[in-house]
Amino acid sequence: MAETKRDYYEVLGVSKNATEAELKKAYRAIAKKYHPDMNPGDAEAEAKFKEASEAYKVLSDPDTRAKYDQFGHAAFDPNSGMGGGFGGFDFSDMSDIFGDIFGDMFGGTRSRQSNGPIKGANIKTSVRVKFDEAVFGCQKELELPLKDECVVCHGTGSQPGHNPETCPKCNGKGQVVFTQQSLFGVVRNVQTCPECSGTGKVIKFKCNQCSGTGYVKSKKKIQVAVPAGIDNGQSIRIREKGEPGTNGGERGDLLVTVLVDRHPQFQRQEYDLFSTEPITFTQAALGGTITINTIDGPMEYDIKPGTQTDTKIKIKGKGVPTLRNKNTRGDLYVTLVVQVPDKLTEEQKNILNNFEEATGSTARRSTDSAGDFSFSGHKKKKGFGKK
Ligand SMILES: [Zn+2]
Ligand SMILES: [Zn+2]
Repeated sequence: MAETKRDYYEVLGVSKNATEAELKKAYRAIAKKYHPDMNPGDAEAEAKFKEASEAYKVLSDPDTRAKYDQFGHAAFDPNSGMGGGFGGFDFSDMSDIFGDIFGDMFGGTRSRQSNGPIKGANIKTSVRVKFDEAVFGCQKELELPLKDECVVCHGTGSQPGHNPETCPKCNGKGQVVFTQQSLFGVVRNVQTCPECSGTGKVIKFKCNQCSGTGYVKSKKKIQVAVPAGIDNGQSIRIREKGEPGTNGGERGDLLVTVLVDRHPQFQRQEYDLFSTEPITFTQAALGGTITINTIDGPMEYDIKPGTQTDTKIKIKGKGVPTLRNKNTRGDLYVTLVVQVPDKLTEEQKNILNNFEEATGSTARRSTDSAGDFSFSGHKKKKGFGKK
């Protein structure tokens, strides 16, 4: 038997000195491809899945890995006389590994074993934050109904003095298999047992406290640390705030999707911010110090005389902090927009008329193609290049 087995490292396609993370990644990829839920009735896929699971089971545990490295498959062969203690491969205690590897990959429909610890399901929720709260990070408090193990029955769901009984429909397996005749032959289907919902157990005398569910729900306050730089739609994982596990399994996680409000002035793209800032046309013509709004507050900025509308300026480091390091920030890109005054007093009109006379009429400038063209062409080109 032992000599027909493939080498475990070869099965997972990793080197002999693969790290734990490499093993996990390799196994995950194989298991995902050949998982029986994904390949119902495919015996070859099932065999590959079992082979990879067995390899991972042995190699993911430092103790059994060391034994395997020393003795090979003989370490676990009950007939080898090595007394490996691993005996035949027991598939039923893979469930803890599945929880670890798959998380909620199969959306909670993954096959369950009634006796091993099973990690609880993840819960998804969302939290709304203001634009600058997302930029600088914040603390939010959520109130969620969370399940806890019932203190009367300790999660069994049975009245004290009674125990859940093995489900007669699935004999405690939690799954029912039925075969169907189809055009392509007999199709084997595996389904979660409808009688016990996959737990493998039925409760005859239900606990009064929890109505047999094994859990009580209560509202819990949960602190969410929203990291600086988070973007709309990204999620925060809060460990062990999901559904309680069963048979001593750990709680699932809480996944909080962050919804970021729009800002009236700033638009975000990755870690950069974009805004427009109005300047008066006197400021545009004469240059000088203007005030620009940044996400950190107003700041002064010197513009050159003759600044054209649509000029883009870059203010370094006034963007969004990166999630990895909040001291590393994107930039702020500001488009300056020259405002042409539309409500003028008589006095202002006179001043502008005098200005017009002093500089020469618009008509003359626009028809003076040669001189004007080079002037505006130069400026426009600059504006385009920065877009
Ligand atoms: Zn109870
Ligand atoms: Zn059942």
